[in-house]
Amino acid sequence: MRLLIMGPPGAGKGTQAKAISANYEIPAISTGDMFRANVAQGTPLGLEAKRIMDEGGYVGDDITNGIVADRLAEADAQQGFLLDGYPRTTAQVAALDEMLGEHSLDGVIALQADTDEVVRRLRLRAEQEGRSDDTEDAIRVRQQVYADQTQPLLDVYRERGLLIEVDGLGEIDAVSTRIFEALTSLADNGPERVH
Ligand code: AMP
Repeated sequence: MRLLIMGPPGAGKGTQAKAISANYEIPAISTGDMFRANVAQGTPLGLEAKRIMDEGGYVGDDITNGIVADRLAEADAQQGFLLDGYPRTTAQVAALDEMLGEHSLDGVIALQADTDEVVRRLRLRAEQEGRSDDTEDAIRVRQQVYADQTQPLLDVYRERGLLIEVDGLGEIDAVSTRIFEALTSLADNGPERVH
């Protein structure tokens, strides 16, 4: 399966991506994790990405598309994958379409979460994990950037009949179960019938 998980920052994408990845034995490919790894290693890309991430903006499309293309070319991604946090802009959608060619995405999971709840979760995570991109200002900027640049992508995938909307609130396991049920329905009936 070639899947994508989307949702506002703090909706629990990363957590659910790990559960989906384990359940379907496909790699979860997170651009955020790849950027954080570069930051941790102090690579030139990491130095550039850190500044942008700390401010809450998006890393440039060319850089982002490049790291995803390299990652999708690796052996473990040939039998399927779950993209987490990519694409985030319409230019990235076009780049991904080109990378995937005829075997495009099979489904797009849209995790839905209320903004107040999402901001509360992000504050908690900032405290627990000490993530430098989770300052109060950055949290607000990231929500706005998501609304402006990434939310419109939901319509793109809805129009393609790929969107699977899942309520992201509640216990982690309960949300995972909702996602697995939706994906089982997807495998049985195709994306149009999942809603
Ligand atoms: P995430 O862990 O997915 O929330 O990503 C953390 C940060 O990495 C984002 O706030 C962006 O600064 C950057 N980032 C991750 N994925 C992308 C992407 N697809 N395009 C641009 N920037 C990204």
